[in-house]
Amino acid sequence: MKFIADAMLGRLARWLRFLGFDTLYYPDISDSRLIKISREQDRFILTRDTRLIKIKGLKNYLLITANDSFQQLLEVINTLKLKQFNPLSRCVACNGNLSRILDKKMIKDSVPEFVFLNYNVFLKCSVCSRIYWEGSHPKNFKEKISKAFKLTLTL
Ligand SMILES: [Zn+2]
Repeated sequence: MKFIADAMLGRLARWLRFLGFDTLYYPDISDSRLIKISREQDRFILTRDTRLIKIKGLKNYLLITANDSFQQLLEVINTLKLKQFNPLSRCVACNGNLSRILDKKMIKDSVPEFVFLNYNVFLKCSVCSRIYWEGSHPKNFKEKISKAFKLTLTL
């Protein structure tokens, strides 16, 4: 299932990407463009905008009611009954796919020295080239996810 989140749901988009869901998010997208992309790419719209959902013929959307971004995530997961998660497969910053770095010497110049010395498993975003390692996602972020969805989150 692929998503596009409206301008008010940037944090929710990051949570969904963390769980592996293909989620587009643009901070300044217009309603018409959001709807166009959702139709063209068969993406489910996530929105907090009660005006948007009144647009004639709009389908495949979920009106998010929670204020807290983690509660919003639970709302999406529970309402759509999503059960397939693929955590740490997608870049939370840009939605790109992550791939494992096979030889860590390849990314020596891209991470702080103490990170290079203390970690052995690295993932790299295919789009923005951001590097992820065991400690790069906030601890409370991972704890919340692993508790709520009973997932083991080691790289
Ligand atoms: Zn990226």
